[in-house]
Amino acid sequence: MHEFAVAESLLQVVLGHANEGGAGKVVSISVRIGGLSDLVNEWVQRYFDHLSRGTIAEGAVIRIERIPATFRCDKCGHVFPADPRTREAILCPLCSSAEMTLATGRECFVQQIEVADVAHHGALAKLPEHSLTREEVCSAIQETFTVAEEV
Ligand SMILES: [Zn+2]
Repeated sequence: MHEFAVAESLLQVVLGHANEGGAGKVVSISVRIGGLSDLVNEWVQRYFDHLSRGTIAEGAVIRIERIPATFRCDKCGHVFPADPRTREAILCPLCSSAEMTLATGRECFVQQIEVADVAHHGALAKLPEHSLTREEVCSAIQETFTVAEEV
């Protein structure tokens, strides 16, 4: 059911920004999610389709981009990709240290919202990334990162 919470959160964020920007319709939503999330893209879209019925976001396509997990070595600062879900111990490929911090893989934010029918413009417009609030979506997505918590 994580997908339901995420879709709900997404819709709130998207509608908020679309209304703010005077958009009459939301065409697509680009979302970046860390690779450690177990969210199923298809279900996010399905729940979103259900929840957005009758709103200006009805029919919007959600594009999900996964960001691979990487770690930063606490000793030498080297950043490298690794999957914390494997049973093998993760060691820094440069200095073999086992002390490291997750650098990427837990992100969750709306990168871009593509809207149409913007008031006074009537053209397709893209709301810039910096106008969006990551935290609103993150609060719903955080709970899906149970595996990453063990790192
Ligand atoms: Zn190192």
